[in-house]
Amino acid sequence: MAGKNFLSRVVTPFFVVLKHVVNQPVTHKYPYERLKGFDRTRGRIVLDIERCIGCGACGWICPDSAIQMKFVEGSKVTHPAIDFLKCSFCGLCVEICPREALKMTNVVELAEDEYRELVYTPEKLSIEPNLKDILPMMKYELEPVITPRKMGYSRRRIEK
Ligand code: SF4
Ligand code: SF4
Repeated sequence: MAGKNFLSRVVTPFFVVLKHVVNQPVTHKYPYERLKGFDRTRGRIVLDIERCIGCGACGWICPDSAIQMKFVEGSKVTHPAIDFLKCSFCGLCVEICPREALKMTNVVELAEDEYRELVYTPEKLSIEPNLKDILPMMKYELEPVITPRKMGYSRRRIEK
């Protein structure tokens, strides 16, 4: 009985600590390390103004009234502007677009200091998000590695 007590109180915790010293941590240090986006991540939407014909279907389908059609200098038709504070990233606007002018990226970083900066004009919406501008302090991109024996990340150093 005493032997079993010693085992459960001293030896077992020792092996638990050893296991976590050897294994990679499951948590990561965002924003210095960032989990790589997945292909189907519903992140920031990008507009291809050249493809957009201004039909307004995206604004019509949006369940959150997050889309308003706006004129852009030099264009005869209106194009979508998106209020990302209202948008729930459902993806309906992307699916309904007959010209495939909208796409979702895997960039989910959208925090801004001011509300109005989250209302993206068609011009702002057409700029592809660049992670290096958003997270200049990021050093590693992490990709999950899940096997039957272990769960962890492979780390890829980001070149500056
Ligand atoms: S993703 Fe959904 S909620 Fe966001 S703008 Fe498109 S339709 Fe509206
Ligand atoms: S549905 Fe597509 S083509 Fe129509 S206004 Fe929206 S982005 Fe432009």
